[in-house]
Amino acid sequence: MSEQASAGSVLRIDGVHKWFGDTPVLRGIDIEVARHEVVALIGASGSGKSTLLKTINLLEGVDDGQIHLGETDITDPRIDADSIRGRIGVVFQHYNLFPHMNVLNNVTLASRQVFGVKRAAAEKRGLELLERIGLADKAREYPDRLSGGQQQRVAIARAIATDPELLLLDEITSALDPQLVGEVLDLVHELKAGGSTILMATHEMSFARRVADRVVFLKGGKIIESGTPQQIFDAPREEETREFLSRLR
Ligand code: ADP
Ligand code: MG
Repeated sequence: MSEQASAGSVLRIDGVHKWFGDTPVLRGIDIEVARHEVVALIGASGSGKSTLLKTINLLEGVDDGQIHLGETDITDPRIDADSIRGRIGVVFQHYNLFPHMNVLNNVTLASRQVFGVKRAAAEKRGLELLERIGLADKAREYPDRLSGGQQQRVAIARAIATDPELLLLDEITSALDPQLVGEVLDLVHELKAGGSTILMATHEMSFARRVADRVVFLKGGKIIESGTPQQIFDAPREEETREFLSRLR
């Protein structure tokens, strides 16, 4: 990896290992994500995708290796976890909106509480974001009045409200009814067009093909192969990749 490439990357994962007890779950992961790049993690259930995303958000520690967010070594034990999490937007599989807060307050909470943005300014920005995702008319509704797809779009708006350097998306459509998946994926596509830097675990191969610049295939906590969507999906080099993809068809 060249000096310049590494200086410009938003995320750099070097030799990350993690065990749960005696079980190795991440076994020497190296991934670099450049600014404005979208990288998709694919792999069977249990291959370590969520654990990897959690180590980046400091919900799990690593047992070996380093993770840099920009210039910051976030695996340094002296690091302030909240300051790191403030630089990363996260959306999980299950939309985790606060049920007792309306949509606008969900979207503006972090900017107000973590970054001390004044309510009026945060709400102006929140309404702009809701406008952008087509849900401005839902600003004063509570989450349970929205469809799953709408809730997940609000969760995305909340994750980007603080202009994070990096967005982590973990299977964000897997809990949705099939007819609601498209609207969420369209929004991720728009984020990419807007220049967001994204690392996402997904089981939607057609979506990975459409939106990702690079696809990383994980098996048993190891990267088996990575490349452009075209290379991975149309001309996989490794037998294990071929086997994984053929089982999906
Ligand atoms: P994926 O997201 O690709 O489905 P995970 O990262 O969730 O994979 O899981 C990877 C492996 O780690 C699995 O074998 C899983 O059972 C195990 N695992 C995940 N979280 C824990 C935990 N908190 N304690 C013990 N084992 C875990
Ligand atoms: Mg997972």
